[in-house]
Amino acid sequence: MLLYASVGISELEIPTKQSLVIYISNCQHKCKNCHTPYLHDSFGDSLKDNFQTIFNIYYNYFDVVCFMGEGKESIKEKDEMIKYCKFIHDNKKQVALYCGRDCYIESWMKCFDYVKIGSYQEEKGPIVKKTSNQKLFKKENNKYKDITYMFWK
Ligand code: SF4
Repeated sequence: MLLYASVGISELEIPTKQSLVIYISNCQHKCKNCHTPYLHDSFGDSLKDNFQTIFNIYYNYFDVVCFMGEGKESIKEKDEMIKYCKFIHDNKKQVALYCGRDCYIESWMKCFDYVKIGSYQEEKGPIVKKTSNQKLFKKENNKYKDITYMFWK
């Protein structure tokens, strides 16, 4: 079950878009000097119980729902996110995943319009730095295009 710590509107996560950011707790990655270490603990409210209410309250203020993290990444949690993706698309919004792993875009992630991958590596810097290892991909015609450069303008 996914737990969320907080939510908020931000223009920083997806370039040119307003995001409804949902901060998922229980992050397992433990990147050195993580900018949000409070998310390492398992705490917060059930996202399943509150998602629709949050979505409706903020509906007029965002383009994209951005899940910040994947919880502890169990199969059940992936299935839960896939259900949110369907709901979000059915309601004419887009959806993004900020994944903190050094991985490729996995098949279960293909319901997302945007996927950010990569751990936080302090020496390489965050995604807004050209030296960063992190990348943001946008789905276009069922393929993912690297749009990380949009953070550098
Ligand atoms: S993935 Fe994000 S929240 Fe998790 S440890 Fe790394 S920087 Fe922190």
